[in-house]
Amino acid sequence: MKITKPLPREEYKKHLKDLNGGCAFCIMSPELTINEYSFWNWVFAAFPYRKYHTLLISKRHVVRFSELKKEELLELAEITEKLENHYRNNKIIGKGSLFGDQLFTCWRTRQNDKDKKSVSHLHLHFYPKFTNEEPINTDSWDIDIDKFKILK
Ligand SMILES: [Zn+2]
Repeated sequence: MKITKPLPREEYKKHLKDLNGGCAFCIMSPELTINEYSFWNWVFAAFPYRKYHTLLISKRHVVRFSELKKEELLELAEITEKLENHYRNNKIIGKGSLFGDQLFTCWRTRQNDKDKKSVSHLHLHFYPKFTNEEPINTDSWDIDIDKFKILK
């Protein structure tokens, strides 16, 4: 299935099944790409937890943080600052935002994921949130991705 815009979270399991063991992040969808850097791709999450859920994906297929090279880590440090500024400049996070006042950033490793619940290719999640207790948005796929893609 070719993904050209964020889709409801409920469709994620079917998508993983369709991949049949292939890596979802070794092939990028240009429609979901926000920006491409030397070692990283910044993309919209295809099956977002929350509105404006984005992923920063290493261009190389690595699983663990410790596999990253020095230049990849250096660029990561620069990019995370730019990403947060982009969220703030577009008023997706910050005072008065409808989506949250904090930018949540996280990653996990799934090296022994026998159930294939996630993609093992290293990626970081970014999304706006107000508190830790907020549930997943059911309408998280419903955003104007083209408007957010304009880098300020
Ligand atoms: Zn991969």
